[in-house]
Amino acid sequence: MQLAASCSANQMQLLEPMHIESLNSPAAGSEMYELISELFPICRSNTGEGVRETLRILQQRIPLAIHEVLSGTRVFDWEVPQEWNIHDAYIKDASGKRIVDFRQSNLHVVNGSMPIQARLTWSELKPHLTTLPEHLDWIPYRTCFFEKRWGFCLSHARFLELEQQGEAEYEVCIDSRLEDGSLTYGELLLRGEVDEEVLISTHVCHPSLANDNLSGIAVATQLACHLEKLDRRLSYRFLFIPATIGAVTWLCLNESELGNIKHGMILSVVGDSGASTYRRTRHGDAEIDRAVEHVLKHSDDKSTLLDFEPFGYDQRQFCSPGINLPVGCLMRTPDQQYPEYHTSADNLDFVRPECLADSWAKCVRVTDVLEHNRTYLNCKPKCEPRLGPSGLYHAFDGVADWAALQRATLWVLNLSDGEHSLLEIAERSELSFSFIKQGAALLKEHGFLTELKADAANCPLPATSELSATC
Ligand code: ZN
Repeated sequence: MQLAASCSANQMQLLEPMHIESLNSPAAGSEMYELISELFPICRSNTGEGVRETLRILQQRIPLAIHEVLSGTRVFDWEVPQEWNIHDAYIKDASGKRIVDFRQSNLHVVNGSMPIQARLTWSELKPHLTTLPEHLDWIPYRTCFFEKRWGFCLSHARFLELEQQGEAEYEVCIDSRLEDGSLTYGELLLRGEVDEEVLISTHVCHPSLANDNLSGIAVATQLACHLEKLDRRLSYRFLFIPATIGAVTWLCLNESELGNIKHGMILSVVGDSGASTYRRTRHGDAEIDRAVEHVLKHSDDKSTLLDFEPFGYDQRQFCSPGINLPVGCLMRTPDQQYPEYHTSADNLDFVRPECLADSWAKCVRVTDVLEHNRTYLNCKPKCEPRLGPSGLYHAFDGVADWAALQRATLWVLNLSDGEHSLLEIAERSELSFSFIKQGAALLKEHGFLTELKADAANCPLPATSELSATC
């Protein structure tokens, strides 16, 4: 009876990695795509109602706290800007028809534009217009934060139509406000058994652009939903912040609490059909770097690994020399390497549910590695221990890939000398972390392993007097 009970417990443990392997589910992809569709029409910016509305929608899925930081607050070398909001904007022709209309696409207004109401001739208006001559029908996305100016973006096809009409007069209106208010961000801390934290950060400041970065918002939200339901060893902190100024602000206000952050990842442009790309931390060989590399390598696709650069997204802030957190960046096709980047072509057709699901599943696997990456000691390190009498061999019965699990078990036994973590064993054995994790769990349960430091006093079978000293 005892043996049967033990085998049944083992088999239950073996189910967990199978669960991890089958995470790439259509349901998760559909949920994320649905969230992106709901958020897509909102006109977000660095500050303002668009960000608040976005975060309130996320609160329907996760218990996000919304924070406000007053305009004018000093944050390191920066200042929290005034709050920008926009109600409407258009260019009307002489007949009163809206020929450029903010209500049709919020990309039509240069994000952050000062208000204006004027009648202008074509030659007066032209310097305020931006187009993409290489893509006739696309509207570019442009910003003018920290500059007191205004502008419109439109398709080059529409621009050429207007150009043909010569020196006509136009009514120009941008009904926006730039005034003292606050910068808004969302934060969620999921506490685990230990204070050690994983930081997941994503930017929430872009208007109607699906991949950049509603995809990051959706994957982070789905990851939080997943982790919320688990028994967690680690704590997870999710940030939904405006790019650059949001990261600078959060880091300045939370500088005293950064010590708990041991791993971090920025999620951006994770919904397009390109392969995954990971940009390493400033350190380059942090545990998060190795965990992501391992997951991508075992995900059967053509992932790309990039070294750290002090450009792009909020690694510029999290990995600045005075902060130096181990924060990498997970993407698919990197920003600026796809023509749809920062244009109206980054729309709901450009992101795909299955690609969102794939990015999410990789994030789940990375957190699984971080959760279970421990260092163990083999309690019977002198020659091979006999596995049969302990009942360990029975644990392989009925396991589909029992040969890989058996190999994993032998690798863990051999390299559990207190010098190698499970992730390092997975790397060296070239076996997936799932198998290594399973092998370690079986060995621990059958009395062959003890965790280094954490439960050093519990080694059940000290084989020699020397081992008694270490176990
Ligand atoms: Zn962007």
